[in-house]
Amino acid sequence: MGRIVLLPDEVANQVAAGEVIERPASVVKELVENSIDAGASRIEAAVVRGGTAVIRVVDDGFGMDRDDALLSLERHATSKIRSGHDLARIRTLGFRGEALPSIASVSRFRLSTRLHEALEGTEIVVNGGKIGSVRVAGEAPGTQIEVRSLFYNLPARRKFLRSENTESSHIQHQLTLQAIGHPNVGFVFIRDQTLLFQAPPAKTLGDRIRDLRGSELFEQLLEIQTEALNGITVSGFIGKVGVSRSTKAEQILFVNGRSVENITIQHGLREGYHTALMKGQYPVTFLFLEMDPEAVDVNVHPANREVRFREPDRVRNSVAETIRKTLETDRRRWTHSLQKPIHTPETPNMSVRPQVIDPGPLLIPAIEQFALRRDWADFSSSPGHVAPLPFEAPSSPKLEQAAAAGGPATPNYCPERPSEFKILGVLGKLYILMENEEGLVLVDQHAAHERILFENLRRQMESEGVPTQRLLIPLTVGVTPKDYDWIATNAQTLQKMGFVLEPFGNSTLKIDGIPQYFRTDDPSVTIRQLVDELRSMTITTSRLRMGEDVIARTVCRHAIRAQDELHPPEVEKLLHDLMHCELPYCCPHGRPTMIQISYGELEKKFGRRA
Ligand code: ADP
Ligand code: MG
Repeated sequence: MGRIVLLPDEVANQVAAGEVIERPASVVKELVENSIDAGASRIEAAVVRGGTAVIRVVDDGFGMDRDDALLSLERHATSKIRSGHDLARIRTLGFRGEALPSIASVSRFRLSTRLHEALEGTEIVVNGGKIGSVRVAGEAPGTQIEVRSLFYNLPARRKFLRSENTESSHIQHQLTLQAIGHPNVGFVFIRDQTLLFQAPPAKTLGDRIRDLRGSELFEQLLEIQTEALNGITVSGFIGKVGVSRSTKAEQILFVNGRSVENITIQHGLREGYHTALMKGQYPVTFLFLEMDPEAVDVNVHPANREVRFREPDRVRNSVAETIRKTLETDRRRWTHSLQKPIHTPETPNMSVRPQVIDPGPLLIPAIEQFALRRDWADFSSSPGHVAPLPFEAPSSPKLEQAAAAGGPATPNYCPERPSEFKILGVLGKLYILMENEEGLVLVDQHAAHERILFENLRRQMESEGVPTQRLLIPLTVGVTPKDYDWIATNAQTLQKMGFVLEPFGNSTLKIDGIPQYFRTDDPSVTIRQLVDELRSMTITTSRLRMGEDVIARTVCRHAIRAQDELHPPEVEKLLHDLMHCELPYCCPHGRPTMIQISYGELEKKFGRRA
């Protein structure tokens, strides 16, 4: 006799449940997705004891007749696809026909459903996969599904469940995702008889986010100016610069209405945010991608959580580009509001506009002298005073040329056209206080300077390369054959970063020069570390971006420090240069360079407004 048998349906369903139904939140996901696919405009979910005792999902969708209700509990029975052909163009959330039979095989299950035009509905009770009863029922049109004692017949699985609180929060997260993905559907979530949230059908995604997440978070978001790029439409909201989280929990992504986790989109986000994101932090996003269903494969993961793109590069680029543009619009808003004249009566002391000698481009070698100890009061009380600026002529001939060619340096600071910053003073030798239309702006001078230096160096890196400092005695460094190959293929990039390297045979490198900005006692150790770091960076980022991280880390050490006292022309120049940066409102590590405190907030603090 053969040793192979066909598993009974019940067992096959339990096996499928093992994949699809990981925990109570998976049940909620499957049921709510079915409700959405059924065109529901209102979905209520109620759970008891973290969903381990009871999960109930009720919708007002189109319901099922008796035959369909019975069929829906069969494995691979679905109304959503008809043939293998349809797999390539799925527009519904479900398509496997596995969820209901799986859930019913591992719980005490009750389905009650009624078509809108029908006089009566159908109720089916299933226990551990075995149909208990099928009756006529009189509930409202739509579908109700009740799942009790989940995993009661799979003790091993039940043991793996976490505390009721943890399971409940997974359920809440799942419902929140669905509610964000479908703003026009009303959602209610009841946990242990307590109403946890109620989101009425919303007109816009923004309304839904505000309803669910509160206006405080909402105000930290930017709306994406939607446009189709490469056949992909990206829309939604993303966190402003400086808004990030240490986990991916608030990185919410949808592809054609389906909530997904996807590395391609994540790379796109990272690339789009770029230096606006602190290391190890994740952006806050409510991002929606719409594309031809044929361009995306949803048949990847049993719970349909993952998707695969036919052209991942296209998707990544569209996401990166959209993010970049969105952050850029915010930049314009900021700089605009800072440069607009302020219509408040000026006190003579504050209206003093310093005359400044063009200090030339801001260059790293000059930074040490940047900070002059001088009293702010000293300056503002003598209006006509021309401050001798501490900037030195560029020390590197290469840089001088670049500056003369209008190349890499910051757009020239033009003293004849005084800027419109209304500087109020400097707080604690660190925060520059400014006024704009909306209220008070605080600028962190150290972070601001980092951003300026960073963009300067990056511009140089992208054009003729950053200045090199020749070593008096060339160094030789032994590297592994793998590193050696890597260095050989990336020699050009390294050169743009200011390294002059030469193969010296036998996995040995000769180092003739290192970047001027590079301060190190032992270049060979540093270079080895650098190569390790560069190599571990994602291959998907562009070559030049590789060097940016290194620059970002280095500028930190060279920027003016928190306690360095700046005098007014320096402050003016710093702000001017900052406003001319591509991304002025965060330092290269993603920390904010400036913070706005609005009149509204001040009024609240002073109790003038509720
Ligand atoms: P799938 O969603 O992949 O088709 P399911 O097992 O989740 O598979 O559901 C099987 C079928 O039952 C669905 O195709 C649908 O026709 C029907 N169904 C499930 N839930 C509902 C519901 N809430 N309202 C109406 N029909 C439903
Ligand atoms: Mg389904």
